[in-house]
Amino acid sequence: METLDIIVIGAGVVGLAVARLLALGGRGVLVLEAEAAFGTQTSARNSEVIHAGLYYAAGSLKAALCVRGKKLLYRYFAERNIPHRRVGKLLIATDESELPALASYGQRAATNGVPPEPLTIADIRRLEPAVRAIAGLIRNRPASSKPTNPCPRCWLTPNRPAPRSLPTPRLWRE
Ligand SMILES: Cc1cc2nc3c(=O)[nH]c(=O)nc-3n(C[C@H](O)[C@H](O)[C@H](O)COP(=O)(O)OP(=O)(O)OC[C@H]3O[C@@H](n4cnc5c(N)ncnc54)[C@H](O)[C@@H]3O)c2cc1C
Repeated sequence: METLDIIVIGAGVVGLAVARLLALGGRGVLVLEAEAAFGTQTSARNSEVIHAGLYYAAGSLKAALCVRGKKLLYRYFAERNIPHRRVGKLLIATDESELPALASYGQRAATNGVPPEPLTIADIRRLEPAVRAIAGLIRNRPASSKPTNPCPRCWLTPNRPAPRSLPTPRLWRE
């Protein structure tokens, strides 16, 4: 009779990844799934975004795992020629009340090792013409869209603490 070391219950992305790793390590693994097929629940219906690690609390395990997991995922895709797109992530403020939150996301992302670049309004329009914003940050800008007016001293620049009061946003307005 065959022997099993481990039973994994649930064949979503987490159960399958755990089962794969255990099996690669030589364990006898059985995966049990309630549905008729593997990967038909949350894992099959998500937004398909590879999160950059922008939002998680600085220094948290979630942030560290997200950033590391993303690298591993890209490597896995490259090794197996799995099609994917690196479209980048645009964070915007639509009015002044959202500027502090935008700055804090920028700071948090920089602390997590994934600093976003500040954008001008012209950059944002070029990237997403339908978006109306007064400030923006981008992580992993798509290669085809270069800014014409980079903002090196903008206070949203990563690693720079956000000021208590809002500065005159020369580059936020056109
Ligand atoms: C709307 C939405 C959008 C998301 N977008 C993203 C995204 O863009 N990027 C991202 O990285 N993450 C995203 N997520 C999160 C991500 O999809 C989940 O974290 C991930 O799919 C969870 O995988 P899982 O294997 O834990 O769960 P599931 O995929 O739900 O798998 C669990 C499996 O266990 C089975 N099961 C449950 N109970 C039993 C039982 N008693 N016996 C046998 N089988 C059982 C279920 O049938 C199911 O197949 C999103 C989540 C949601 C809800």
